[in-house]
Order: sequence, then structure tokens, then C-alpha cells
Amino acid sequence: MPETIKNYINGEWVNAVQGNTFESRNPADNREILGTIPDSDHVDVDHAVNAARAAFRSWSLTPAPKRGEVLYRVAEILVKRKQALGELCCREMGKVIAESLGDVQEAIDMAYFMAGEGRRLQGETIPSELPLKDAKSIRVPVGVFAQITPWNFPTAIPIWKLAPALVAGNTVVFKPAEETPVCATRLVEIFEEAGLPPGVLNLVHGFGEKAGEPLVRHADVDGVSFTGSNAVGEHLAVICAEQHKAFMMETGGKNPIIIMDDANLDLAVEGALWGAFGTTGQRCTAASRLIVHDNIYDAFLDSFTEKARHITIGNGLNPAHQMGPIISKAQYDKVLSYIDIGQQDGATLHLGGKAYTKGECAHGTFIEPSIFTDVTPKMRIAQEEIFGPVVSIIRVSDLAEAIDIANDIRYGLSAAIYSQDVNKTAIAERDLDAGLVYINASTIGAEIQLPFGGTKHTGAGPREAGGRGGALDLYTKWKIIYRDFSGKLQKAQMDET
Ligand code: ADP
Repeated sequence: MPETIKNYINGEWVNAVQGNTFESRNPADNREILGTIPDSDHVDVDHAVNAARAAFRSWSLTPAPKRGEVLYRVAEILVKRKQALGELCCREMGKVIAESLGDVQEAIDMAYFMAGEGRRLQGETIPSELPLKDAKSIRVPVGVFAQITPWNFPTAIPIWKLAPALVAGNTVVFKPAEETPVCATRLVEIFEEAGLPPGVLNLVHGFGEKAGEPLVRHADVDGVSFTGSNAVGEHLAVICAEQHKAFMMETGGKNPIIIMDDANLDLAVEGALWGAFGTTGQRCTAASRLIVHDNIYDAFLDSFTEKARHITIGNGLNPAHQMGPIISKAQYDKVLSYIDIGQQDGATLHLGGKAYTKGECAHGTFIEPSIFTDVTPKMRIAQEEIFGPVVSIIRVSDLAEAIDIANDIRYGLSAAIYSQDVNKTAIAERDLDAGLVYINASTIGAEIQLPFGGTKHTGAGPREAGGRGGALDLYTKWKIIYRDFSGKLQKAQMDET
């Protein structure tokens, strides 16, 4: 029997007011239903935002170290439940078990890290130009935050958003991806168990247009944090600009790996495989363009193809499997349509390109690791985000050409270079236009203590993760305090001292 999942509003587990539901299914085996989920609308959103508003004053006045203590308890519970949450993540989202456990570990790391921010939310003291007067900056919470998450990191991305928002004193309405609602529910249960007061965190399940958009537009929401598709992010950015809301979006990527002729070949092949096919290519930092130097091209392609051919595909709960399914039928159709587009546009389908339906995989949405060669930089498969196990290989003759191609794209999330020449890597570090640059490492593998995000159409607003220069800049606003203890009217810029 599938579990009945509920919304969490003002400390109560409730159905959607209209009583409608939808199902969450396992993408590796669509016969398995994980839960029946509330299909919420603007009425549920309204209840949740009202609860978050009512809880705001008391939560924002709770000392930040005490708010951090709740996050420490969340982290401790996550540690205890890591295996169970990892298995659930694998069943609901499809990524293989080792990666699913990594997803939970990232949530744990972020919860601990942000818990510590409760004792580190520093501002500055700054000298005044006048005597007997001082000045300081302090961080204050923004208010009620809407947090909208995607399905590809069902535990990590929610905690990336919830932990900094809550430690900074905001209250939250969380609308998780409709594909991974059971994972989201388990997380919210953990916050409840850790002692978060009612109304501080509210969970509203449902779809983007029916639940997500009313949440973003709600007059009592002060800030929006969104991770998902570029089209939706840019649409929400306009709404938030009009309504003057704090806004952060993290969306697409078309991330390149440059492989120079002096690269350590085995290392580059390993990094390219992990970047292209890890998480079935469904990471915003996935490597989808391999820009390879002429002199090493054939050796690289042979080794890369041979290893890609042997990637084991199947249900991720079996630790022997290296690549799981595509999240949904819609996404699966989209990936297969890009494989057609690549061929129509004149690229050579060098490996894969088909649905994988052997044995039990017939019940899921699996696609073979797919490699295109003879790709030119402006082809659609080299410009548009596919979000699947499809990689384009582009041949170049020098570093300058490689960097130009790497940058000639509307996105700028992650970029990597493999080279043993320190001068070449220094030039790449300087010239690659991306939020994250990796040297002799793949495009994936960000760590939570550093800010995360991209340039150009990839993102807008402050970065996620990290501390200063990262998430805290989204979840707090600066207040400047001047204190005059001279007992007389002092005039800045005019008094002679
Ligand atoms: P993906 O294609 O990766 O599913 P989406 O951008 O469609 O990316 O979805 C990411 C998140 O954004 C999900 O939680 C989804 O429900 C939500 N979403 C989609 N459309 C809207 C919208 N118009 N307003 C608010 N949220 C939305």
C-alpha cells in the first residue's frame, strides 16, 4: 500500500483542502508507488504562508545560537537515518545507492555547517566620522521565504535552502519537486522531531503552476529561493522583480571539460565518465561537452568509449549498478528527442542512443550512455541542456580555441580543465566564464562550505551554500545602526571636529 503523504502546516499534518492527490512512483520500476501526495493549490499555500507569517516574530527573536541548535539536532537525526533516507532517495529519484547516500551526506554536512552559523552571523563595527558616535552593521532575517526545489538532489538541495534560511531567522514555506515528495516529507518530519516550533517550516506539496506559482506570488512572501529549469526560473525572476522580493535562482548548465594533449589521460577519462554519466547526467553541473585536443583525441575517445560501453545500468538499489533511470517519462522523451536532433543536425552517434529495456529495466525509464562525435560548437546538442546521459565531443587544436568554445554558451555554471601544464591551467582558471572552475577534476563535486552558483543565464541573486558571500547574503539583509552618545545634535559631513 502506498503511504498517504500530507502537507505540514502550522505544526499539523493535513491533506490538501480540495482533497486531490497524485502519486510518486519509482522511476526504476514504475509499478512501485511510493506515496499518494496532496495536490495542493492556492488555498493550501495561503494557509501555509499565514502560518509562516504568524511564526516569524517569535522565531526571528529566538537567539541565533538556539536556532542553530535545532539544526544540530536535525544533523544528528540525519546521520542516524542516513541509510534509510539514502534507500528512499534511490527508490524515489533513481540515482544509484552510493550517490543517494552521498546526497544525504551533503544534507548532513550542510545542516552541521549552517548550525554553526548560529554562532557566526557576524556584522561589522565601523568607525564613525564624529566623536561620541559609533556605527555597526547587523544581519537581520528577510521574513517569510518560499523555497522551491527540483528532484535531482531530493535531500541535499532542500537542506541547502532550509538550513541557512532557518538559522538566519526566516520562516519558510517549502514546495518540493512533485517527483520526490516522500523524501521531502521525511526531511520535514526530522525538523519537527528536532523541535522546530509550529509554523516556522511549512510543507506544501504539489505542482509548479498550481502550488508553486501562487506561493511565489503571495503578497506575504518576502523572498524566493528557486532551483530548477531555466525557463521557470526566468519567469519567477520577473514576478519577484515586480513584487520587490528577495530572489535567488540556480538553473541550467552546459558544462565543458577541456582535455589538453598534456593531460593525464586516465584521470581525464575517469573525470569525463563521472561528469557525463554520474547521476545519469541529471546534475546541473553534469559535463555535457568534452572539448578535446587534436593530439590526444583518438586515444581519449577510444578509452572513454570503451569504459562508457561497460557502465552497468539498472535499479540503483543493486550496488553493482553504476547508472540508474531517467526521472520521468517526460524527461526520458526529451532526452531521446535530443538524440534525434543531434543526428538530424549532422553529429555522429558514436555510442548508445537508445532506451535500455533489458529485464527489469523494461519497467523503468532507462537510456544507454550516449556519445556524440563530429559535434560543432553551435549544434543544439552542444548548446542546450539535455539533462540525461548524453555527451558531445568537440575537437580543438589549442587552448585558446578550447576556452572560446567553452565560453560560447548562454550558461556558466561549472567548467573543468585537464592539463599537467601549470601555465595552461592558470590561463583556464582566469578565462573560463563559470561560477565553478575545476582543475584536474570533473565538473561535479561542489563542497557545501563554498558558495555555489553560476554566471550568465545559469543563475541570479546571491550564491547558495557557503557562508559569507553565499547563502547568508540571500537569507539576511543588512541593517546599519548609528548610535550617538554625545548628547547633542551632530551633523555628518558638516560638523568641524
Ligand atoms: P524540472 O524540469 O527540473 O522539473 P522545473 O523548473 O519544471 O524543473 O521544476 C522545478 C521546481 O519548480 C519544481 O518544484 C516545480 O514544481 C516548480 N515549478 C515549476 N513551474 C513553476 C512555476 N510556474 N512557479 C513556481 N514553481 C514552479
